[in-house]
Amino acid sequence: MQPKLIALEKTFNASTLTKLDDAVLERQHIELWIKRDDLLHPVISGNKWRKLKYILDDALSLGCDTLISMGGAYSNHLHALAYAGKALGLHTTGLIRGECPKPLTPTLQDMHNWGMQLEFISRSDYRQLRCYQGRQDLPGIRPGQYWIPEGGAQPLALAGIAELVSEITLPYDVLCVPCGTGTTLAGIIKAAPVHASIIGYPVLKHAGFLISDLEKMLDRPHSNWQLKLDYHFGGFAKTNAALIAFVNDFETKTGIPIEPVYTGKMLYAIYDLIAKQYFKPGLKMIAVHTGGLQGKRGFS
Ligand SMILES: *Cc1c(COP(=O)(O)O)cnc(C)c1O
Repeated sequence: MQPKLIALEKTFNASTLTKLDDAVLERQHIELWIKRDDLLHPVISGNKWRKLKYILDDALSLGCDTLISMGGAYSNHLHALAYAGKALGLHTTGLIRGECPKPLTPTLQDMHNWGMQLEFISRSDYRQLRCYQGRQDLPGIRPGQYWIPEGGAQPLALAGIAELVSEITLPYDVLCVPCGTGTTLAGIIKAAPVHASIIGYPVLKHAGFLISDLEKMLDRPHSNWQLKLDYHFGGFAKTNAALIAFVNDFETKTGIPIEPVYTGKMLYAIYDLIAKQYFKPGLKMIAVHTGGLQGKRGFS
């Protein structure tokens, strides 16, 4: 790994496992642990660091001076990238979907303060950008610029996710993770033991397309994973009173901060499935807290 990246990683905290303890789990005889990737770093938290780590290493080793990527006005990915760029001495450019909000969202304001160049692009141009999934296939890219597709969805991301899995030293039967692009889930499926059952909880509506996306990211078929498609709450960043109440209640009872966009939806789903006796008594489950707490500011 590049020395600058090693130095940055030294500023990170350990992602620990926290065991949950409550009446629902006790009644159904389920053991549930949270893998606390939210603790890794106050800004480059959770799966965004896992996914960016080897991408950043690649950019540094190629001698690139600028990182370019895309995302929305609350993007955890661009927020992490802007901070990492500043920490590593690299320029960053964020291609942002839609018009420049006035005032800037707290997320965009941070990105601006960390020196990211913000370029606002139309929704149709944004959709077009999704075609460029390779490392350097963006039209007009100049030498020294390094293109990272939406959400860091590229093969190098999977190596960082594998480290999350290898840190889990407890035996477990079920491993759960929220899904946006499914990149984190793909990395987990590749790295987890075959006897474990891996469950992804998409936060987007109509997320069935993820099945073929995932099959593409996995280079051989795996049969130990599935998606729970019914816990999107109306779509990306959509919530309802039941979800918000669940998130608040979970935080009060456990002291673990969560947000309603990703980890909140996954945990709601897990508890709903446990209450419906979907999981066999005696199972040991792990749920990955993918971080992203900065995005919560969009809900206040
Ligand atoms: C981006 C993000 C995800 C989704 O990750 P994918 O790899 O795109 O599926 C999950 N949780 C949080 C907090 C995120 O920021």
